[in-house]
Amino acid sequence: MSEFSFAPAPQPVISIARSTQLFPVRRVYCIGRNYADHAVEMGHDPKTSPPFFFQKNPNNVTETGGFIYPSHSNDVHHEIEMIVALHSGGTNIDVSQADTHIFGYSIGLDMTRRDLQAEMKRLGRPWEASKAAEGSAPTSQLHLREETGLINSGRIELRVNGEIKQESDLSMMIWTVSEQISILSEYYELAAGDIIMTGTPAGVGPVQKGDVMHGSIEGLGELTVTVD
Ligand code: MN
Repeated sequence: MSEFSFAPAPQPVISIARSTQLFPVRRVYCIGRNYADHAVEMGHDPKTSPPFFFQKNPNNVTETGGFIYPSHSNDVHHEIEMIVALHSGGTNIDVSQADTHIFGYSIGLDMTRRDLQAEMKRLGRPWEASKAAEGSAPTSQLHLREETGLINSGRIELRVNGEIKQESDLSMMIWTVSEQISILSEYYELAAGDIIMTGTPAGVGPVQKGDVMHGSIEGLGELTVTVD
């Protein structure tokens, strides 16, 4: 019998609305440029295919209501996104079966060091330092799919200090949630505990210490996060 040489890190979790259970986070996948207006604002042709994904660390997911402004950036941006949580997975999942793996949904923020990301794009380097900073994936509670039904449309909005910065509809995603699950499963073995950040609409922009971000998605309530 072997023992850990030191205590293993705590299991990252997301709480569940109207439940005492916790959702254990295994992996965090994020799609890039999944709303046409955001692709255009970042200088890209929205019809470019196929989609691409990057990852954050599971313990970047936080539910504290706070976001600590990260080091090495003077241009940290908000990206409001719907999070899809999976209770099962597999490989080569047919798009017609993808919905069956959905456990629930939450409101997330893909906080991004935009200046570092621009530098990494320019140098052809990986994006991790721009995307996987500590606390870079604030989330609301999860809402069970059995309560919400499948969500493929509805208003998504982010306000900063009360002013609307991002607003769109989930139906404006270039790649649907089902398509994202199916395509991801061609590249990775998806499993219970995986979450997908499903992309952000136009209007991304910088935050400053003291700002209050207020996200909402129709049917999923609200997420309030203060920049510390
Ligand atoms: Mn994003």
